[in-house]
Order: sequence, then structure tokens, then C-alpha cells
Amino acid sequence: MKIIEKLLTVNQYSRPGRPLGAVKGIILHWVGVGGQRAMSTWNFFEFTCAKDKHYSSAQYIIDLNGDIYHAVPDNEVAYHCGSLQKDPASGRIYTDWARAKFGAYAERPDVNSPNNCTIGIELCTVDTDGNFSPETLVSATELVAKLLKDNNLTIDDIGTHHLVVGWKDCPRLWTRRPEQFDAFRQAVKKKMTA
Ligand SMILES: [Zn+2]
Repeated sequence: MKIIEKLLTVNQYSRPGRPLGAVKGIILHWVGVGGQRAMSTWNFFEFTCAKDKHYSSAQYIIDLNGDIYHAVPDNEVAYHCGSLQKDPASGRIYTDWARAKFGAYAERPDVNSPNNCTIGIELCTVDTDGNFSPETLVSATELVAKLLKDNNLTIDDIGTHHLVVGWKDCPRLWTRRPEQFDAFRQAVKKKMTA
């Protein structure tokens, strides 16, 4: 597992520099553009967010070749799964899953956010269907296993952006093929006990 320390500059839109609360979950995303490399996403967080006044970031970005870019320290807040839109199933902002898991962090969207108790990981994909390269998946498995151990969590604490908000197909592949997300979680479990 190759982690490249490439921290964003502290700024309002992608690295607010606020301390993260106790970590209650690891949330996975895709970068949203097939074939896009990790540094493009990093540049988006570093430069485009401030220019466009757009709040977006994650603690980690995993490249197509498996390199892991560490963009926001693990003990600082990143903006990856906050929402102002209602989940269609529950009619609430944040899903039943998120409210059960994150409690107060997901009950009052006006004052709190699951961003304040989760670590976000962006995954690059080889295509617009959201398929991952084997290298990205290997690094994601190792990184998530490490973060779960670091924070005394289990594979039940791995989530997706989709699981948190309900309306977003992020990561696209695992929203459409949840059985592949289950397989990923099992691979992480295996890694943790290896
Ligand atoms: Zn996402």
C-alpha cells in the first residue's frame, strides 16, 4: 500500500481544518468521471472548489494504479457525504441507515453532518459504469482495513455515499451491484484477520 502525503491547503471549501469527532464510519465514493486520475480530483479539491465556491473533498483519493493520495488528515473534517436533499425512501435528509449509525450527526442537517464523524475515500474508476481497476480495489481493501483497525471499527461500519444519502449513485458500481460492495466488505474482513 503506497500512501502519498499530498495534503490540501487549509481552506474553507475543501479542508476547513476542523477536528473530526470520534470516527463512526468509513465512506466510499467514486470520483464521478470514468478514467479520471487521482491528481485531477486532488486538483479539483485544491483549486476548483475555491474558485467555484463549491464544498467538496475527502481524506483519501485512490488512483487507477493503486496509489493512495492522502488529501486531508484523518483527524480533520472533509466534505464528502453531507446533504441537503431528502432520501426518497425515508423522506428525511439522510437514510435510516445513516441516522441509525451516526445518531446526532445525521439527525439535524441544519447543525451537524456525517462529515463530522466519518472518513471519506474517493475511488478512481476505469470507465463511466464505475468499474474499478484491480489495483484500486487492492489498495482500497488495505486502506479500509487499516482505518477500521485504527478506529476500532468493523466491516459493518463501511458505508457508501449512496447508503448515507439514498439518492446518489456513488460509487456507481456498488449502487447498481450491491453484491459487489458486500464482496468488498468481505475482502476487507479477510484482510483484517490475515
Ligand atoms: Zn460520493
